[in-house]
Amino acid sequence: MANIRLKNLCKTYNGGGMDAVHNVNLEIRDKEFLILVGPSGCGKSTTLRMIAGLESISSGEIWINDRLVNDVPAKDRNIAMVFQNYALYPHMNVYENMAFGLKLRSYPKAEVKKRVYEAAEILGITRYLERRPRELSGGERQRVALGRAIVRKPVVFLFDEPLSNLDAKMRVQMRTEIHKLRMRLQTTFIYVTHDQTEAMTMGDRIVVMDKGVILQCADPMTVYDQPVNKFVASFIGSPPINFMQGRITRRERKYFFDEGKFQVKLIDGMYPKIAPYEGRDVIMGVRSEDIYDKLFASEASPENTVRATCEVVEPLGSEVFLYLNSGKHNFIARVGAHDRPDVNRDMDLVFDMSKVHFFDSKTEETII
Ligand code: ADP
Repeated sequence: MANIRLKNLCKTYNGGGMDAVHNVNLEIRDKEFLILVGPSGCGKSTTLRMIAGLESISSGEIWINDRLVNDVPAKDRNIAMVFQNYALYPHMNVYENMAFGLKLRSYPKAEVKKRVYEAAEILGITRYLERRPRELSGGERQRVALGRAIVRKPVVFLFDEPLSNLDAKMRVQMRTEIHKLRMRLQTTFIYVTHDQTEAMTMGDRIVVMDKGVILQCADPMTVYDQPVNKFVASFIGSPPINFMQGRITRRERKYFFDEGKFQVKLIDGMYPKIAPYEGRDVIMGVRSEDIYDKLFASEASPENTVRATCEVVEPLGSEVFLYLNSGKHNFIARVGAHDRPDVNRDMDLVFDMSKVHFFDSKTEETII
C-alpha cells in the first residue's frame, strides 16, 4: 500500500527558463487511480519521472508513505513504471524480459518463475513466453511491459502514455484490461495521458495540467461538469465544448446572453453570479449534448431557442453530430440517432440553459 504526497514540487531543466513543473501539490491516496492529463509539454511526464526517481527534483518534496524519497534512488522506491515504447529487451524472450528485474534483485529462481507465470496468466500471455518482442503485436508487447511491472509487486504503478502506440481498437481493449488489472492488484496507479477519453474513463481523479501547473484536480464528472476555467472545459469532453463570445444584457430583471445573432435567457439561479457582468463580454460554453433539435426538445421556449444553419450532418450510428452555424459562431450539437435535419437549411436548436457555462472573457476563469 502506498500514498504519495507531492509538496511544492518544481523542476527546471538546465537551460530552460520556465519551470517544466511548477509548485505542484498533490496527495495521491492508497489504491487510487490518478490520471495526469494535459497537452504535450505541460509537465506530466516530468512529474511522473520525478516520482519514479528517474529525474532529479529542483525543489520541493516527494513523500511515499511518510518517507521522504527525494534522495532515494529509483530502484529503492518500490515503484514500477510502464512506458509508451514498452522498453523491452529485444534479445530476450518474454519470460526473460519479465524475469529480468527480479533476477537483478537476486530473487530465488523458483520465486521468479512463480511470479512470471502468475503475471503471464493474469495478462493472458502465457503462450508467448518463449517469443521475442519482435514476434509480438503492439498490444502483446504492452502486456509484457505490464507483466514486467506486475512481477515486482510494487507499491505504486506509474504509466507514461502506455497506450499511445496502439491502434484505436487495441487502445480501447487495453484500457479495460488496465482497469481490471487495477481492480485485481489493489495498488496505487498514477497514469499519464494526453487523451481525455482515457482520463475520463479510467481515473478516480483527474489532474488537469497546463504549462507546468495543476489547473484542477477532481473526479472526472466534477471536472466535466464544473471546470475551473475555459482551458479545462475545452480539454475535457469530445467533441469539444462549444464556445461563443457574447455580452450579458438585462431586460425586466432577466439576464440574457446576447451572441449577436441570437439571445438566450440565463436561468434564475445564475443571476447573482452573472449580475456583475451586465453590459460586459463573456464566453458561453455549451456542450454538444446540451443542444437539442427543437423538433425533439421538450422544453423549448423563445428564450432558449437559437436559429442556425445546419452545414453538415454526421451520423455515427448511435448518435448524430450536427455542424451548425449561427452566422457568428460554428458549433456542434449531438442529437438522437434518427434525427436527420436538412443540410444548408436553417433550423431551431434548443439550449439546455441549466447546463451552460460562462467564463470571464479576459481571465477565462469560470463564472458559472
Ligand atoms: P508532457 O509529458 O506533459 O508532454 P514533459 O514533462 O515531457 O511534458 O515536458 C515538460 C516541459 O519540459 C516541456 O517544455 C519540455 O520541452 C521540457 N523538457 C522535458 N524533458 C526535458 C529535458 N530532458 N531537457 C530539457 N527540457 C525538457
